[in-house]
Amino acid sequence: MSDPLREDLASIPRYVPGKAIPDAVKLSSNEVPYGPLPGVVEAVADAAENVHRYPDLGVVELRGVLAQRLGLPAERIVTGTGSVALIGHLMQAVAKPGSEVVYSWRSFEAYPIAATVAGLKSVQVPNTPDHRHDIDAMLAAVGPDTRAIVICSPNNPTGPAVTADELDRVFASVPEDVLVVIDEAYREFVTDPACPDAIERYADRPNAVVFRTFSKAWGLAGLRVGYMVARPDVADAVSRCVIPFAVNAAAQRAALAALEADGEMRRRVALVTSERKRTVMAARELVPDVPDTQANFFWLPLGERAVEFAAHCQERSLLVRPFAGDGVRVTIGLPEENDALLEALRAFVED
Ligand SMILES: *Cc1c(COP(=O)(O)O)cnc(C)c1O
Repeated sequence: MSDPLREDLASIPRYVPGKAIPDAVKLSSNEVPYGPLPGVVEAVADAAENVHRYPDLGVVELRGVLAQRLGLPAERIVTGTGSVALIGHLMQAVAKPGSEVVYSWRSFEAYPIAATVAGLKSVQVPNTPDHRHDIDAMLAAVGPDTRAIVICSPNNPTGPAVTADELDRVFASVPEDVLVVIDEAYREFVTDPACPDAIERYADRPNAVVFRTFSKAWGLAGLRVGYMVARPDVADAVSRCVIPFAVNAAAQRAALAALEADGEMRRRVALVTSERKRTVMAARELVPDVPDTQANFFWLPLGERAVEFAAHCQERSLLVRPFAGDGVRVTIGLPEENDALLEALRAFVED
């Protein structure tokens, strides 16, 4: 009897969600700690009145508002069930037989999963010793079968963002038939002026594709809505891969309400980035090689002690995200949560 299932699926690493333990402080999933933005809960409650109806298939209103804010035609914007889903759809859209996708490693754990599911070969390029994308090595890895090069900026889980100089070099170097995919899930937290807004700077490049999400700074992780900006035919191809009605009605209303609260979003992001500065400076006193971070998390390069540190934190009801043998990603939380984390780190390194 032959097996109907694909053999390669068994080898796909599982996505590891940040742990959730009741009453523990959750610094493991890069969420913002202040609850939904004003107006969001009401928008979801309103949407609940109509849950017997299908949502707007074309997500017309939300895409229209995004288009207006970004100064782009709506036909260039595709929404999906979180940008994780859209990353998968983009990979499906470019997965001709024998195709490759180049990305840095370590980077976002969804990339190898999405690539393998789509039938693309992953070409993983090791980060530099300071945990940044190695742009030259990534460019050298682009070959005749490369369909896309993925830049995660800021990079999850290590934190640094790419600079305009680096991205300019990428666009100058890769052929136009290779998509330059820039995952800006944490764009709102970037404070280094050397690191550009990829939509502003590169949206007119024919091979630029930029991902954004409502899950992080906009506080809608539980509702699953993200979007992608690309040239019209790329956007059209990806939209053909999206499962119909992917963004549900409550998520569409909530995203519109969140956009209305953009001033409050920015105020919260400023609290996070100021806490980031304080927490990372203090963490560096204990672990000197914590890399720069432009996101709402930072990286502790603890190597073989990564899992041990996560267990040590969990004993103190602090949840962080370990990557075995490599490091630990810690989300910036409320000031007292960050203090508790620093205390746990101090006890760990002095032990
Ligand atoms: C969180 C995250 C996303 C977005 O996730 P969704 O919730 O699916 O929108 C995308 N890319 C990176 C690098 C992330 O960390």
